[in-house]
Amino acid sequence: MSVTRSQIISRGFRIHCPNCGSPGLFKEGKWFTLNRSCTRCGLRFERDEGGFLGAISLNYGVTVVCFLVPILVLYLKGILSGFTASLIAGIGAILVPMLFYRHSRSFWLMNYYLVLPQHLPANRSEPVPPGQDENS
Ligand SMILES: [Zn+2]
Repeated sequence: MSVTRSQIISRGFRIHCPNCGSPGLFKEGKWFTLNRSCTRCGLRFERDEGGFLGAISLNYGVTVVCFLVPILVLYLKGILSGFTASLIAGIGAILVPMLFYRHSRSFWLMNYYLVLPQHLPANRSEPVPPGQDENS
């Protein structure tokens, strides 16, 4: 296997292609636009319709657990007033998912190939033409 699981994790955290390590997961200069496939190796990032629902769930979970729950705890302990907690929670509920968006997409892709590393074209014995993956 030429791409190891630790490389897949490292590339996932750096928002790079899990197959070749290229930083081309998102279109250059666009925060929210995922490339359909890797510009270097052709690995398809958008696997199928709804393939990234897990990334949305991950983003939601991180926002709730890492941001909204601590705000709630601070409110319940009397450290924050109701108005302040509501204001911070409202602003954070919009900003945190936006800031975590790229990582959630990358983590979801990383998760797939972490479980099934043999699906990466770099880990196959026969070459796969650019723009295709195991489902094509
Ligand atoms: Zn690539």
